[in-house]
Amino acid sequence: MSDELVFRNGVIVNSDGVVHADLLVKEGKITAIGASLGSGDAEVVDASGRYLLPGGVDVHTHLELPAGGTISSDDFFTGTVAAACGGTTTVVDFASQEHGQKLPEAIAEAHCRAADKAVVDYGFHVAVTDLYKDAIVDLREIVSDGVSSFKVYLAYPGVNMIGDGDLYRVLQAGGQLGATVCVHAENGTVIDEIAADLFNSGKRGPESHALSRPPETEVEAVQRAIMIARIAESPVYFVHLSTRGATEAVAEARLGGWPVSAETCTHYLTLTETEYDGPHQQAMGAVLTPPLRSEDHQKALWQGLDNGSLSIVSSDHCPFCKAQKALGEGDFRKIPNGGPGIEHRLQLLYGEGVATGRVTLERFVDLVSASPAKSFGMYPRKGVIQVGSDADIVLLNPSETTTLSATTSHQRVDYSLWEGKTVPGRVEKVYSAGELIFSGGIFTGSAGRGQFIPRAPR
Ligand SMILES: [Zn+2]
Repeated sequence: MSDELVFRNGVIVNSDGVVHADLLVKEGKITAIGASLGSGDAEVVDASGRYLLPGGVDVHTHLELPAGGTISSDDFFTGTVAAACGGTTTVVDFASQEHGQKLPEAIAEAHCRAADKAVVDYGFHVAVTDLYKDAIVDLREIVSDGVSSFKVYLAYPGVNMIGDGDLYRVLQAGGQLGATVCVHAENGTVIDEIAADLFNSGKRGPESHALSRPPETEVEAVQRAIMIARIAESPVYFVHLSTRGATEAVAEARLGGWPVSAETCTHYLTLTETEYDGPHQQAMGAVLTPPLRSEDHQKALWQGLDNGSLSIVSSDHCPFCKAQKALGEGDFRKIPNGGPGIEHRLQLLYGEGVATGRVTLERFVDLVSASPAKSFGMYPRKGVIQVGSDADIVLLNPSETTTLSATTSHQRVDYSLWEGKTVPGRVEKVYSAGELIFSGGIFTGSAGRGQFIPRAPR
């Protein structure tokens, strides 16, 4: 028995082009691309009529995250199983610093949560909430240990939010250390005032979540952080942009040659604020931050993907079951913020983007795999099908369809934001480091097989 695995007759799609060729895998790596590869006893996968994509890279997930008095419902096992079943073979989650905690301790805890459970490869961003004396010294160490990105929140006063002075310091450190600073840009102080007014006037249902976070609260925070990054002479990356104004602010900065980049998320591209018009349970399921927006904002996000001001599509997977969401019945401020999306990111962007002609196949691969790998220090190990890269490979069948439903999903949550929706394309097989981990609707990997990926600084 040979240890060779060869994919025959498939169409290999990378962010920079499409080729029809065989693909040879040995010892978890891609070892050749060409014609008639593999010895006589190699294991052969017939990929006729299938696209071979580099495994998806999701750089925004929240597994086992304590939030709003509860914990997100997927842990590193169930969450990464769901990722795997949707064609995502690398996730970058968060090591979140508690107040009073040193940053290296937060990272040690994140490693403990992931090590025995993760079924796909993973990394962490360190979320900085408290800039204690010597925090910057610790950040230097953290970057050299392979955690080359920081996250800061300009929302959630009293919980995660940092002030502009600390934002300046973290950006400055990121600039000096070559670490990407990921900013959650919403004006949390203003949001809390609007939310209090809504609550006090009796508007306490989930629809008030969106009313309390008008588009301007995102736009203002993005503009402010761009200027502070400019002062700190540092690049800046915005997570989960949801508005036209924020996307335009990023586009304008980029036109000026400033190192500003941003992601949006699957849900902003495929759902709108009408989700909040339904019954409370449905509306609570769509309580995400920032909230879903109008069609006009959605249109601007698709334009942003097209013109490059948005370079990554993440899931911001942060699932809570219906009973957890119900913690906010009678007070929308207590609804845990977040929704499930890790499993269907590729399917949705393929179905709503490629199949509709809004993005090309290559751009699709760029948005879900190549660009996140490049932006976060994992390229070309991840994000590309080329000789020497990890054999993380997705077989997508464009002739089939997929119906999304909570009942057929692997993520540990009892609803779907896209319940019953059918999209073109189907993820049929997924390989991680050459190992088949998903096939025919069934997860075939094992807990703890995923590896921590040390990420390089810029
Ligand atoms: Zn998030």
